[in-house]
Amino acid sequence: MSIKHQARKRFGQNFLVDQQIIGQIVSAINPQPEDNLIEIGPGMAAITEHLIKLCPGMSVLELDRDLVEFLGEKFVDYEQLTIHSGDALKTDFGQFYDGRELRLVGNLPYNISTPLLFHLLKVRHLIKDMHFMLQREVVDRIGAGPGTKAYGRLSVMIQYHCRVSPLIPVPPESFRPAPKVQSAVVRLKPHKTMPWVCDNEVLLSKVVSQCFQQRRKTLRNCLRPLTDSLEIPAEVIDLSRRAEQLEVGEFVRLTNFINNSRQLS
Ligand code: SAH
Repeated sequence: MSIKHQARKRFGQNFLVDQQIIGQIVSAINPQPEDNLIEIGPGMAAITEHLIKLCPGMSVLELDRDLVEFLGEKFVDYEQLTIHSGDALKTDFGQFYDGRELRLVGNLPYNISTPLLFHLLKVRHLIKDMHFMLQREVVDRIGAGPGTKAYGRLSVMIQYHCRVSPLIPVPPESFRPAPKVQSAVVRLKPHKTMPWVCDNEVLLSKVVSQCFQQRRKTLRNCLRPLTDSLEIPAEVIDLSRRAEQLEVGEFVRLTNFINNSRQLS
């Protein structure tokens, strides 16, 4: 395949062309030769060609078959590189674990970024860290704290699992074609020791969604469908508060209380 790959919208293709930004991303990742490094959506290898020099045994996972072929040709001399052809959303990332924790990186298609993050969190215990280019608005939401407009379900659910560090703001001009939105690179590091232990993570997700569904309403109103006639004492959570005021740990405490009360009844 020639260098003139026509960017495909349906695969969310916005290729990085800004060498300065690419350099900053590679430095932030700081790949080591012994890393279990996996790049999702390498595209035309803008980042890959730098990563591979530092970590020749890396792997890539690409959905677009034309690009898979291109990568095979481009890196024909890199015998240690593994190229996987497939959809990241349907890939079991546990298969990449070989005793070394995964280091995931990618300039992700923005239309799949949130589902992909939740997909990856299923194997968070196998992951060392993740560096992803996302829409800046999504990075803002992931990193937001209580009392801010950006704070919501995504902030709570990601911060429950990971430490979040927004790293590099990236303008549209850094890509071809230029996306309509601002972007940013974020680092997510799954907690090795969980700061809060939730007894029922499925319920946590339900509670958080329910609480943020109408973020202006009190928790009492939001939670009614989930808690029925359950009394939640003020020591657990004051239900006259609103979701956007609660810290992650408070959502966990609330969920554990509801979970334990259900088991007793
Ligand atoms: N990393 C490159 C390409 C970014 S564009 C760069 O920075 O220039 C996003 C890339 O993800 C494209 O190569 C696209 O084909 C690929 N992609 C899109 N959906 C994917 C999926 N579900 N699984 C794996 N790769 C995907």
